Amino acid sequence: MDTMKLLMIICDGMADRPCQELNGMTPLEAAEVPNMDSLAKKGQSGLMDVIAPGIVPGSDTAHLALLGYDPRKVYTGRGPFEAAGEGLEVHKGDVAFRCNFSTVDENMCVTDRRAGRISQETDKLAAALNGIKIEGIEIIFKEGVDHRAVLILRGHGLHPDITEIDPHELCKIFESKHNIPESKKTARILNKFTKMSYEILSQHPVNLARIEEGKPPANIVLARGSGSPPNVPSFTEHHNGLKGAAIVGISLVKGLCQVSGLDIIDVPGATGSTDTDINAKTEAAIKALETYDFVLLHFKAPDLYGHDGDVPGKVDFIQRIDESLEKILELKNTIICVTADHSTPCSAKDHTADSVPVLIYGPGLRHDSVECFNELDAMSGGLGHIRGHELMQMLSGLAGKNPKFGA
Ligand code: ZN
Ligand code: ZN
Repeated sequence: MDTMKLLMIICDGMADRPCQELNGMTPLEAAEVPNMDSLAKKGQSGLMDVIAPGIVPGSDTAHLALLGYDPRKVYTGRGPFEAAGEGLEVHKGDVAFRCNFSTVDENMCVTDRRAGRISQETDKLAAALNGIKIEGIEIIFKEGVDHRAVLILRGHGLHPDITEIDPHELCKIFESKHNIPESKKTARILNKFTKMSYEILSQHPVNLARIEEGKPPANIVLARGSGSPPNVPSFTEHHNGLKGAAIVGISLVKGLCQVSGLDIIDVPGATGSTDTDINAKTEAAIKALETYDFVLLHFKAPDLYGHDGDVPGKVDFIQRIDESLEKILELKNTIICVTADHSTPCSAKDHTADSVPVLIYGPGLRHDSVECFNELDAMSGGLGHIRGHELMQMLSGLAGKNPKFGA
């Protein structure tokens, strides 16, 4: 049997609920998507509970499921994926966090969680913190996009089981969740680091200049999302030797793909936001299929419009993704899957547990009677109702990659 290539297109948070502004249609129903419709018509559609019915997925747990892992078994927190997405290597025993550069006053009250959305010279601030040691634990710290940064604690006897602080008013301290010595130590070190970040950053020339210019200083680092690296088998091992790559702009999903052993293909102009170069990403995916068995193509922006409750923005972006898919229709010998990692309804402005539509098209494969790609039509499709972690197994089976089970 000939094997086929696999292309998985994930439109983050694309699935939605009926919108008043669209006379009760969802953004995907209202959008003109002739290319997705054509794939739905030639292929099979269905609905998917990405993790399980009623579970509200995060983008990280959802993508673990879409890559074929059981997130409830392997997920160990967001920090390691963010750190990997910013190009840091996360080792066994590390505890990783995502961080904000924030502003506190002299009473350690948080006055701006994003330090005026600082976007410049955070590399200089990060350099002042990177490499310091606290109780023998190494601090690895790197700036991300805008006010974001990542932190790794590296050394003996650490554990990620500590309380979250995502303070809106007062910079509280971290505590051990279950009173185990390792997490107590981790909380203690993180509290010391938080205090040191204030001492070092409040005197930093970049911040002195910001104060002079009337801008809020980025005078503290606030960490959250603690996690140790997940123990996942590599994507290739997990899927009978499939060699995979990912085209993704946002660091969380990028890091997750990297930790799972996918090669990351950097595309100039891919920002992980609404200004991303959609066509460049799609073209890069088509090119990558020459070398790889599996390519994941990810677009973040539908989720951002969902969080903002921006219905026209979401409709427009979905249409722009669809336009870029015209060349995908010409692909030979390739199974194409289009789906979302979760719903981000504009009315909810957040992720919800609503199932997402999914379509699978491949030359010579079955088709059903569905003619359009959206939440409503997908209900009557031939794929029925599936779970997220089954999708990858279905795709590799259809591509002829799965060995026979039994004689
Ligand atoms: Zn997402
Ligand atoms: Zn989201």
